[in-house]
Amino acid sequence: MRTYKLLNIKALTISFSTQTIIGFMELNYDYPPYRPPSEAGSALLRVVKGCTWNRCTFCSMYKDLKFQQRKKEEIFREVDHLREFFPAARTAFLGDSNPLVHKDIVEIVRYLREKNPWIERVTAYARARTIAKMKREKLEALKDAGLNRLHIGMESGDDEVLEMVNKGATSEDLIEAGRKGGEFFEVSFYYILGLGGRERMERHAKNSAEVINKAKPDFVRVRTLTVVPGTPIEKMVGKEITLLTPEEQLEELKILVKNINTNTYFTCDHVSNYLFHRNRAFFMGVHGKLPDEKERMLEEIEDALELIKTLDGVINSNDMARLGRIIL
Ligand code: SF4
Repeated sequence: MRTYKLLNIKALTISFSTQTIIGFMELNYDYPPYRPPSEAGSALLRVVKGCTWNRCTFCSMYKDLKFQQRKKEEIFREVDHLREFFPAARTAFLGDSNPLVHKDIVEIVRYLREKNPWIERVTAYARARTIAKMKREKLEALKDAGLNRLHIGMESGDDEVLEMVNKGATSEDLIEAGRKGGEFFEVSFYYILGLGGRERMERHAKNSAEVINKAKPDFVRVRTLTVVPGTPIEKMVGKEITLLTPEEQLEELKILVKNINTNTYFTCDHVSNYLFHRNRAFFMGVHGKLPDEKERMLEEIEDALELIKTLDGVINSNDMARLGRIIL
């Protein structure tokens, strides 16, 4: 999952009744530290802290955090004041990673909806294996309570790559999670371009497309591998994994798009996918409905490949981040 990091803040909350000020109350709001870019406008509610798995070699998100379920009472207190912290939000997102394992999750989602009738959509991160193993009755109860969408980190549909990066899920888990989750919710799958390195570029893209075709997620969201210093994958680079050049990034993207045949909205909605020349992004990924807009999307990738041949010094987001010109 690629995400944006948020800051914890302490807010002074003022409670109003219809006619009189009831009083002042100081509330510590515990923000989830990450959310998907598509949840930029959402009210953020932290249900759990950290990740139940926390072992993917490319991920730095919750490494310093011991997983814990937050107390229901604390969560409810924040739900009561949600509008004050997110006055313009129309949707809500549950964090951190894998909040659906919280023992009171159905009650929490129901309370969130009851107290905030303005919420149009509730979404959450979810681990594929958790959804694959979860009973349908529980998923149905979550749907009835008001959960609408799952953000699932597929990363790759290739079992060799999944094992190499210690994802803790197989291609079968991903297919089961997509299918089962899709019976109750909208599903977003996240793909990490370059995760197999140059060595596994083709099988990573082709087998991921196959998993997507079988799992049928509503959205496929692409992130290009960003090597975060200190993560285990850093030590694999140059050994098991060779990072892709900008041309290879485009080639892998082409294989992926070409092989997806199911109905899904495909988007490269993250800066990690951009390619730059003289500090300007000239390629910002491809976006559109598959398979209907496949030809147009493939043409755009081909155009970018042709353009690269005419330019000197094309760099990707990893290079830009290393040079301190963007933050990933
Ligand atoms: S499941 Fe993996 S990628 Fe997702 S938050 Fe946990 S360690 Fe990171």
